[in-house]
Amino acid sequence: MVTGQDDSTIIVMRRDATRDDIDHVVERLRDIGAEAHVSEGQIRTIIGAVGDRAVIQQLPWEAFPGVERAVPVLKPYKFVSRDFHPEDSVVDVGGVPVGGNAIVVIAGPCAVENRDQLFTTAAAVQKAGARVLRGDAFKPRTSPYAFQGLGEKGLQLLAEARDEFGMPFVAEVLDPRDVELVSSYADLVRIGARNMANFTLLAEVGRQPKPVMLKRGFTATIDEWLNAAEYVYKEGNHNVILCERGIRTFEQQTRNTLDISAVPVVEALSHLPLIVDPSHSGGRSALVPALTRAAVAAGADGVMIDVHPTPETAQVDGGQALRPAEFGQLMDQVRAVATAVGRGV
Ligand code: PEP
Ligand code: MN
Repeated sequence: MVTGQDDSTIIVMRRDATRDDIDHVVERLRDIGAEAHVSEGQIRTIIGAVGDRAVIQQLPWEAFPGVERAVPVLKPYKFVSRDFHPEDSVVDVGGVPVGGNAIVVIAGPCAVENRDQLFTTAAAVQKAGARVLRGDAFKPRTSPYAFQGLGEKGLQLLAEARDEFGMPFVAEVLDPRDVELVSSYADLVRIGARNMANFTLLAEVGRQPKPVMLKRGFTATIDEWLNAAEYVYKEGNHNVILCERGIRTFEQQTRNTLDISAVPVVEALSHLPLIVDPSHSGGRSALVPALTRAAVAAGADGVMIDVHPTPETAQVDGGQALRPAEFGQLMDQVRAVATAVGRGV
C-alpha cells in the first residue's frame, strides 16, 4: 500500500538488459517493501518503484546488472507521466488504435434516444469515416427532470449498432454500481467531466478490463486531471485516454472555453493519448468545425463529435450537434489538417 512519505523512483534498464536483470531488480524492490511496476517499451524496459524513497535510494541501483540509471519522480502522478514511459502509449479500442499516427474520429449522438436515431447517425458517421461510435445510455443532466438516458436498453442498441456498422463504441458510466454493466457492453468506458474527481468511480473503472476515456473536469487543472488518470492506472488498467472538453471561464459566448494549450502541455507531461471534444467545449454547432481543426492542428490524437440526424428534436445537447452532412464536410477538413501536420486519419 502506498502512503504518506512514499514516493517513486524510476529504474531505467539498459537496452541490452536481460529478463534475469529485470527480475532481479523487481525482486530486490519487493525485498525492501516497494511495489514494482514493469513497463516494457519497444526500446527498453522501465521499472516504476513505489515505496519509501529514502529506502529505495539507499540501494546502488546503477551497480545492478542491466540498470542504466535510477531517477526519482517528484510529480504526484507517476505512471501516467512521460518520465515513467517516454514513448507514446497506444490504446486499443475494440481494434481501433488511439494514440498512434492516425487521428481517430469518434462520432455519434450525445444520448441514445431510440433505434432509428442511433442507427441513422451510426450509418452516416461510419460512411463519412468515423472509426468509433459515441452514444450514451446514462446522461448526467443538470436538471433531475431532464431525460436521463435509456439505461441498459440504450447499451443494447449501441451493441447492435456496433455489430451492424463494425464500429466499437464509447459510453459514459456515472455510478460505480453500473461499471460492470457498462463495461460488459461498451468497448470504451467514459468518465465524464462531472465525475473526473469521483475517486471511487475512478478506482472501479481501473479494475475492469475495458479501456477508459477520462474527460477533464471543467474546473480541474491539468495536474488534477493527470492525478485522476493515475487513480485509474494505478489499479492496473493502463488503457487510459484523456479527453479535453473545455473548462469553465468568465467567457459567456461559449459553453466552455476549449483549453487548446492543454494539448501540447499534456503531450509533454504524459504518454497517454489525448483527444478533444469540440462539441461540449463550444456548445454550439457553428463552432465545432473551427475547434476541431484547431485540435487536430495542435496535436490531438483524435476528436469526439456530437452528430444527430435532426438536432432540433434532440433530447440532449441539440444545439451543439452537427447534421450528418455537416459532419461529412468536417471529415474532409480533418483529413486535410491531419495531412498538414504529418498524420493520417
Ligand atoms: C458527453 O460527452 O456527453 C458529456 C456529458 O460530456 P462532459 O462530461 O464533458 O460534460
Ligand atoms: Mn452531451
